[in-house]
Amino acid sequence: MSQRTKIKELLASTQTGMDVTVKGWVRTFRNNQFIALNDGSTNNNIQIVVDFENTDVALLKRITTGAAISVVGELVASLGKGQSVEVKAKEIEILGDSDPEKYPLQPKKHSLEFLREIAHLRFRTNTFGAIFRVRNSLAFAVHQFFQEKGFVYLHTPIITASDAEGAGETFHVTNFDIANPPKTETGEIDYKQDFFGRATNLTVSGQLEGELGAMALSDIYTFGPTFRAENSNTTRHLAEFWMIEPEMAFYDIVDNMDLAEAMLKYVIKYALDNNKDDIEFLTQRLTEEEKQKPQNERSEMTLLEKLQFCLANDFERLTYTEAIEILRESTPNKKKKFQYPVEGWGTDLQSEHERYLVEKHFKKPVILTDYPKEIKSFYMRQNDDGKTVAAMDILFPGIGEIIGGSQREERLDKLEQRMDEIGIPKDELWWYLDTRRFGACPHAGFGLGFERLVLFVTGMGNIRDVIPFPRFPKNAEF
Ligand code: ATP
Ligand code: MN
Repeated sequence: MSQRTKIKELLASTQTGMDVTVKGWVRTFRNNQFIALNDGSTNNNIQIVVDFENTDVALLKRITTGAAISVVGELVASLGKGQSVEVKAKEIEILGDSDPEKYPLQPKKHSLEFLREIAHLRFRTNTFGAIFRVRNSLAFAVHQFFQEKGFVYLHTPIITASDAEGAGETFHVTNFDIANPPKTETGEIDYKQDFFGRATNLTVSGQLEGELGAMALSDIYTFGPTFRAENSNTTRHLAEFWMIEPEMAFYDIVDNMDLAEAMLKYVIKYALDNNKDDIEFLTQRLTEEEKQKPQNERSEMTLLEKLQFCLANDFERLTYTEAIEILRESTPNKKKKFQYPVEGWGTDLQSEHERYLVEKHFKKPVILTDYPKEIKSFYMRQNDDGKTVAAMDILFPGIGEIIGGSQREERLDKLEQRMDEIGIPKDELWWYLDTRRFGACPHAGFGLGFERLVLFVTGMGNIRDVIPFPRFPKNAEF
C-alpha cells in the first residue's frame, strides 16, 4: 500500500513538483474539474485538479459529495485563490461511493439541530471537524499540564456503591431481571443477590476515591466519564459527561484556586497555539451566528478575542457574600429582571446570577469563594465563622459554572458532625473517614466539566454539540 500524505502536511509543504498520494472524502466537485478533498487532518480542503478530457466519464460521475477517494498526482503551486498548493491528478480511485441523491449532508449550510440527528455523519462538516480537533487538543493539554507538574493520573471506578454528593441523581447498575427482581421477606428488592451483593450505580464523581489517592501520592487527577440522571434539559447539562478531578495533599483553598486558574489558561493557550485554523474558523462561525441576534445581545468580543482576553487577565476573586451584595444592588435585580430575585444571604446562585457577575459586572472569569455551608457538600472545609465553607466555583462567560471545588474538611470531628447534621451515613463511608483517622492533612481539589471547557473554547452554544454522541433525557442514539 502506497504511503499517503495527510492534507494538513501537504498544505504546509514548501516543496512542489513531487508525486503524492492523498486520500479523503469529497466535499465538492465543481465543473468536472476541481475536487475539494478533506481528510479530517485540518479544516482546510486540498484542491484536486482533474484532467476531465482524459478521464473516463463513468469515473467522473462517481466523484460525488461524500465519496471516499484516493488520488495520485503532482503537488503543484496553485494558480487559484485561497490555497498555495494543489494536486494535479494522475490517477483517481473511488474507494467508497456516495449516492448524491441519498447522502444526507449536502454541500450547503445545515442547522445544528439537524446535524445532531445525524451525529454519525456530522464529523464530516467543517464545524464538527473543528470542534472535535479542539476537544482532542484540550484533552491532551489537560494531561500534559498535570503530568508536567508530577500529578498521578488515577483511574477511579465507574461502578460504585457511593453517591458522592448524596444528591441521588444516579443511574442504577444491576444484573437483575428488572421485571422480576428477588425480594426480601419484607418485600424490598434484595440487592444481596445482585451481581455486587449490594445496590450499585454509575459514578457521579470520582472525588472521594481521588482523595484517597492524594493521601498517599500527594497530587492526583482523574479524567473520566461521569453520569448524572438529572432531568435537566439545558444547554449546559449532559447525562454522561467527562470530568477532570485533581486532588492535592497539602493544598489550601488559595493553592487550589491558583492551580485551577493556571490549568484553564494552560489548556486554552495550548488550543490557541495548536488549533489556529480551527479556532479561526469557529470564530467566524460564531460571528456569523451572532449577526442573527439583535445588536444588544451580541458579544463585544469575538471568540478569539475572548480566549486571548482570558489568558491575559487575572480571574476576579471574591467571596459569595460580596457577590450577593453586588447582585442585590444590581440593576436587573432592582428592576425585577431576574427570574430568581436575589433576596438575602444564603440563597443558591442561579446561572443567570453567575452570568451577570461574569458577563456584565466584572466582564471576566470570576472565582467565588466561601459559600454558605447549607448550599454546599458535606466534605467542604468549615470556615471559622461557623457559616461558610472553603468552597470555590469558577464562573466563565457564556457558561456559568465551569469548575466546582473546595478545600476538604480534614478534621474528623468536624466532618462527622456535618455528616450527622445532613444525614450522610457514616458507616457507608467508613473508608473515606479512615483517611481522617490516619495521617489526615490539609488538602483540596476541584472538578472541571470537560464539555463546559470545550463549549467555551469552541464558542458553541449547546453542550450536545461538543461531545461526539451526547446522552440526554430521551436520547441515547448511536
Ligand atoms: P451545575 O450547578 O451547573 O449543575 P454542579 O454544581 O452540579 O453544576 P459539580 O457537582 O460541582 O457541578 O460538578 C463539577 C463540574 O462538573 C461543574 O462545575 C460542571 O463544569 C460540570 N458538570 C456538572 N454537572 C454537569 C452535567 N450534567 N453535564 C456536564 N457538565 C456538568
Ligand atoms: Mn448540577
